[in-house]
Amino acid sequence: DDATSRIHLESRFANELPELALGWQADTPPNPQLLVLNEDLARELGLDPEALQTPAGIGFLTGTNLPADASPVAQVYAGHQFGGYSPRLGDGRALLLGEVTDATGATQDIHLKGSGPTPFSRGGDGYAVVGPMLREFIVSEAMHALGIPSTRSLAVVQTGRTVIREDPQPGALLVRVASSHLRVGSFQYAKATGDLDLLRRLADFAVARHYPEAESADNPYLALYERVIAAQASLIAQWMLVGFVHGVMNTDNMTISGETIDYGPCAFIDDFTPSAVFSSIDHGGRYKYGNQPVVAEWNLARFGESLLPLLADSQDDADAIAQDALGKFSPQYSEVWSAGMRAKLGLPSSLSAEVAAALVSDLFDILKVERVDYTSFFRNLADAARGNTVPVRVQFSVSEKFDEWLSRWRSLAPDDAAMDRVNPIYIPRNHIVEKALAAATAGDMQPVGDLLELVTSPFEAHHGKQRYTEPAPDDFGPYRTYC
Ligand code: AMP
Ligand code: MG
Ligand code: MG
Repeated sequence: DDATSRIHLESRFANELPELALGWQADTPPNPQLLVLNEDLARELGLDPEALQTPAGIGFLTGTNLPADASPVAQVYAGHQFGGYSPRLGDGRALLLGEVTDATGATQDIHLKGSGPTPFSRGGDGYAVVGPMLREFIVSEAMHALGIPSTRSLAVVQTGRTVIREDPQPGALLVRVASSHLRVGSFQYAKATGDLDLLRRLADFAVARHYPEAESADNPYLALYERVIAAQASLIAQWMLVGFVHGVMNTDNMTISGETIDYGPCAFIDDFTPSAVFSSIDHGGRYKYGNQPVVAEWNLARFGESLLPLLADSQDDADAIAQDALGKFSPQYSEVWSAGMRAKLGLPSSLSAEVAAALVSDLFDILKVERVDYTSFFRNLADAARGNTVPVRVQFSVSEKFDEWLSRWRSLAPDDAAMDRVNPIYIPRNHIVEKALAAATAGDMQPVGDLLELVTSPFEAHHGKQRYTEPAPDDFGPYRTYC
């Protein structure tokens, strides 16, 4: 008997949606070593961080020492990848271990990524490597600290297995926590089976898990669709406000919960560049920074198509209902984005929407041309509100236009303290993440630990950490990310 054998893992997804769940076991890692454990998150989940660090605990984290009644599954789903439809994707290197109830009473999935091949692996090897799993850990925890809905990261375990990528890499797995792993692609798969009962059970499961208030609506499935649209509109607006580029917004990577999921080739912009794209596989720029709202709406249209048989008896009625609902994406996105930008600029609530919109649009015209570092700009701007205009002014080479904008903005008496609460000092800057991942791959976890400390309290200044706030040096070159 060890402490982990008393963990209670539920199997609700596996039991209620067996058509979408294939019972499967994690590989036994040859030499598991815990690289990083999120002790705060462990406690929130009711797990004992001390116990998780013992061999039995690491066995739990790798899916090889689970409670006797656990039933880990690979989930099946479909998805549009870069616009092309794949009827059967599924967890090719991941497993849902089960669900736990957290300290707030909410249900959370415990999920492994990199746990070995499954029948859904297609051409892949089923494994993951240290660098990308630590990137997901760092960026997901940074997003959470920024207040942006996200899956969480509980641990990364190095497996002791060598995995071949461009070159041999140390293998690792990520223990991910999410309010669920239901995706748009889950609904696409269920719809494509033609089994209306399955589709209805999936929708009921999603309502019960994420939007219980939708159950009492006149049309609960329309209420589900509307809530997912609103959650995603808000999520994407928050990505845009903070300068986050997801990199692979396939429909299988868009959650029903509204949490950011699947941190692969993601990155934060340095300069404000709408065309910014970082992913090595995104040749057409489909998932570039400025395209994210349009892509999200496209994905939500696919979600709506999957729900059609549940929305109304006649196809025409269902189409009209779905289109009407999707029409709310764009105004909801704009509302969240505009409110967020007002907060970033510390604008008084008495300022009219028209004046605020003109001020913002004039600012972005200047930012685009001058290619100013996006994150530090807003912090420096708060200093300017306090009377020190030097840090923000040196960010502009041609300063006349900006000076004019700055005095216009300062005359509105912006709230600098409010700005500091919403504008981060520390984000996972690409060049710093890259260095930390390279060090970890070579066996030194210190830089990852140092970076995590900063990005998980992003609004507070830490003494002597100036270099973490600076854009990449010119010799860093164009940034490319790999899955
Ligand atoms: P992603 O782009 O990470 O969301 O993955 C898309 C699909 O590819 C999912 O079905 C994954 O399970 C699968 N996949 C990604 N990498 C691997 C791998 N190394 N081995 C097996 N399947 C993989
Ligand atoms: Mg995925
Ligand atoms: Mg991935």
